[in-house]
Amino acid sequence: MTPAPEEALPLLKERLATVADLDAASGVLSWDRQTYMPGGGVAGRAEQLATLNRLSHEMLTSGETARLLDAAGEPEPETDAEALVRLARREHDRAVKLPSSLVAEISRSTTLAEPAWQRARADSDYAVLAPHLEKILDLQREAAEHLGYEDHPYEALLDRYEPGARKARLEVMFDELKQGTAGMIRTVANHAGEDREAPLHGTFDERKQEEFGKVVASAFGYDWDRGRQDRAAHPFCINFGGSGDVRITTRFDPGWLSPALFATLHETGHALYEQGIDPTYSRTPISGGASLGVHESQSRLWENIVGRSRSFWTHFYPRLRKIFPDALGSTDLEAFHRAVNAARPSEIRVEADELTYNLHVALRFELEVALVEGSLSVADLPEAWNAKMEEHLGLTPKGDARGVLQDVHWAMGVFGYFPTYTIGTVLSVQLFDAALEAHPEIPGEMERGEFGTLLGWLRENVHRHGKKYEPDDLVERATGRPPEAGPYLRYLGDKFGELYGMP
Ligand code: ZN
Repeated sequence: MTPAPEEALPLLKERLATVADLDAASGVLSWDRQTYMPGGGVAGRAEQLATLNRLSHEMLTSGETARLLDAAGEPEPETDAEALVRLARREHDRAVKLPSSLVAEISRSTTLAEPAWQRARADSDYAVLAPHLEKILDLQREAAEHLGYEDHPYEALLDRYEPGARKARLEVMFDELKQGTAGMIRTVANHAGEDREAPLHGTFDERKQEEFGKVVASAFGYDWDRGRQDRAAHPFCINFGGSGDVRITTRFDPGWLSPALFATLHETGHALYEQGIDPTYSRTPISGGASLGVHESQSRLWENIVGRSRSFWTHFYPRLRKIFPDALGSTDLEAFHRAVNAARPSEIRVEADELTYNLHVALRFELEVALVEGSLSVADLPEAWNAKMEEHLGLTPKGDARGVLQDVHWAMGVFGYFPTYTIGTVLSVQLFDAALEAHPEIPGEMERGEFGTLLGWLRENVHRHGKKYEPDDLVERATGRPPEAGPYLRYLGDKFGELYGMP
């Protein structure tokens, strides 16, 4: 017998809470794997994670979940119930569309490909990765056919990370960014001889770096009663099904200030989002960020717009200099501000500055679209990579390790993810501008090391909603405009125009 909608909804919620608990338990195990687990735990942990993932998948795709989703009907628009049913349906449909044999094969092939990628990168030998990539790409194409799409198979893959994103709109956005930054990039390339970044290299005690990062994260509003920071090989932010426990990780380089500092600001940005989500959404599909792009907008906002601004360093640089008197004694605020904003075309995406970063992403987007549609073969990928580096950034990588092999994403079967970095970067300025318009006092507060007004605006307009609204809808509600690249280009023009003496 089919239950009435008002009976089905609580039952559905209960089931989804169990799915969320299983996923949260996986999260704790995977956090532990990346922070404290001894090497000997690898095999056992892989089994535990596989078991929890299987149970969660079975519960989500079961006939009982399908029956309750049917019975839940169409709750009233704009309500939490409507969001819950819409998001649960999407997750359920996506999960049932992929045959479990395909899911298992994707998991197997990427498990093999990751160590192959590590070897290939270490030896700068693309041939080691190529056969794996071939296989992974075939499986991704198959997945796209199962998931379904309107215009292009790439969109089926993209939609997993950025619901509703369209290939054609991304092409327009990347074209706008390429055209809008080409002149500025030529100008900064002419300054390549200056060593603006020098103040960031020196001797920086790890413990002191950590302390300073914590001071800034606290000032931003990170709640340590609902979070903690540990060390990991790759910085990340993770939560366990709600806003009550949101953790970040960092790694330190005692000879270089930037990586730990900006990774801490970045991950804190992600964490502030998760800590700000309405706690009643915990253990439901509404918990979590609206999309990867919107999530990235929060990390970029705190890392770049705030963390690389003169206002921010007006307050924090005297403190940082006091902590590192030997390394920074001869560097004044202006020189330090120039250092953290040094820009130049470079080979490596994760080290790229705000001005050139999106071209690294544009290149990957163009290549992965071509790979998925089959107009580019895996064998021709390194050559195509180098040609695009030349086209977008005017340089050729010294070897494939610093070129096509630098990112792990494709070896992990992750296609359609890269654009979310640029979507987030672009949105970060659009959202910050809207906050400024509502509260012109924000820069003045930043100069005093105060961020409550900015965080409050983000909490109210972005964070608390979790996944309730679709990404475009959320942005339009918060800023009054659909997502657009214009504000970001204006921001770059103002900032780098001043830093590099451009009109
Ligand atoms: Zn991020």
